[in-house]
Order: sequence, then structure tokens, then C-alpha cells
Amino acid sequence: MLQRPPPLPVLIPTALLAFLAACAPQGGGGDGFDDPVDVSAADDATPLDGSSGDARVDVAPDAAAVDPGPPGRREPPRFAFPIDPPDRSRIHPGLFFGVDHDPADGDAIDCLAYDGRRFPFCYDGHEGSDFVLDGGFRTMDDGSARVVAAAGGRVVEAVDGNYDRCSGDLQMFEPTCDGHPIRSNKVVIEHAHGWRSRYLHLMQGSVTVQIGEQVDCGALLGLVGSSGRSYTPHLHFEVLDPTSESVDPFAGEVSGETSLWAEQRADDFLPGAACDPAWGPAR
Ligand SMILES: [Zn+2]
Repeated sequence: MLQRPPPLPVLIPTALLAFLAACAPQGGGGDGFDDPVDVSAADDATPLDGSSGDARVDVAPDAAAVDPGPPGRREPPRFAFPIDPPDRSRIHPGLFFGVDHDPADGDAIDCLAYDGRRFPFCYDGHEGSDFVLDGGFRTMDDGSARVVAAAGGRVVEAVDGNYDRCSGDLQMFEPTCDGHPIRSNKVVIEHAHGWRSRYLHLMQGSVTVQIGEQVDCGALLGLVGSSGRSYTPHLHFEVLDPTSESVDPFAGEVSGETSLWAEQRADDFLPGAACDPAWGPAR
């Protein structure tokens, strides 16, 4: 059964509460913590999109290069939590920003999370799940947290070299990268049957995989950072279905009954670390 995570107010850092309070009335920006989904061609023209200018890769079906997956299995992968188990305690258990299920294009706080909660558990137009580094830049400077593949697959996009200390301007609902381009370091993995997972905002110089590389579930991809449209170090994890539509991996009263996590809630309220043995080796 689903459990609700701990109430946000007792866990949310004071600085971020200030940010949320400051940005809430601003609205208008349409997005808050990071890149909007950027899988369409139109997004490439968006100047503040973290992917603009990145070396994008055509991920057209390539049956010869992608493992077709277990015989007869056509359903989506079931994902492991994309943080290395020894580092999961570095991820804030209550500070979570999920996929927005409210189709209204309103201000930044006009959103609906998978479990029916609204801002700040989501924000308008958000198409991924944000897992926030507890302690922010201090924790990032102390080694951060390792981002790992949530299921096995092939790396179809790997971007590094972008500034990774972007932060929030409390007066404007826009991040600043201190004059550097607002571009995200990221990895995209294609799984069987055309499903993909995206990992955004990685630390500069931390990406450990290359395009074309086959990775198992649990393989190291990089470190949590704050590159691109990011206000504080966090991982934006996003699932795309074979039609390139973003899908919420969490099951809930709004998002439906099917969870794409192998274990949606572990004891610490974050998704479980176990890999689905059908999609990646156990760890
Ligand atoms: Zn995000």
C-alpha cells in the first residue's frame, strides 16, 4: 500500500521555503526547478531549455542496437531508484517535486501530483520527478550522490561540461548560472521497446558513460549537480514512453494504478533500490 511521505513543512529547508514563498506569487514562468521536458524539436529553440545547444542524438528505433528485452515482455521497464544505495540518505525524503497532472497552463503553483497533492509537491508543467540533495551545495561539495541507471539499456545521450552551480533567484522565477549558459549535464538511456529514462542536472565532469554504451541497472552515470534549469542540486528523473510522452513512474490516485518503480516506497519513503530482475541485474 502507498504511504504518504513525511509532511513537507517539518523537513523542508528554511532556505527553500523562502524560495518557494518567494516564487509562488511570481508564477508566470511555467516551470520551477529545472528543464521542462525537451524531447520535441521545438524545445531545441527554447533558449533556457537545458538541452538547447547540446549534442542531441537521434534515438530513432534501432533494433540491432537495443536489446529487445525479455521474450514476450512488452510492458515498460520497472525502475530502481536512480541513486546508488549507499548515497540515498543524501536525498531529501520529503522534498519531492513530481510530474504535473493538471493540464491547465497556469502559474507555477497550478499543478497536481500523482497522489493528489499540489504545490510544492509539483509545479506547473513539470514532467519529471525531482529528488533533491539534502544539504544542497554543501552536500554536493562533500561528494554529492551517485546517479545510477534505473534499468538496463543503451546510452543514447550523454552531455557533460556545463556549469553545475546554477541556483535560484528568489526575486525571479528563473535560475541563474552566473553568466554561463543554462545547459544541463545529462544522460538518457533507451530501454527495451523504446522506453527511455532521463537524468538531468548532473555535476560538471561527473558523467561516466558515453553514447552507445550498454549499461546495466545500477551502473554509475554521474553525480547529482545543479546544471541547467536548476535552483538547487537535485536529480530530475524522467520516463518517456515509446511515443516520447513523459510518463509519471509513480502510481497514485491521479496517475493510475501502475507503478513503474520496482518498489514505489521503501522505508525511507523514496522508491526502493532493487532492480527488476527482468530488466537489470539485482544489486
Ligand atoms: Zn525536474
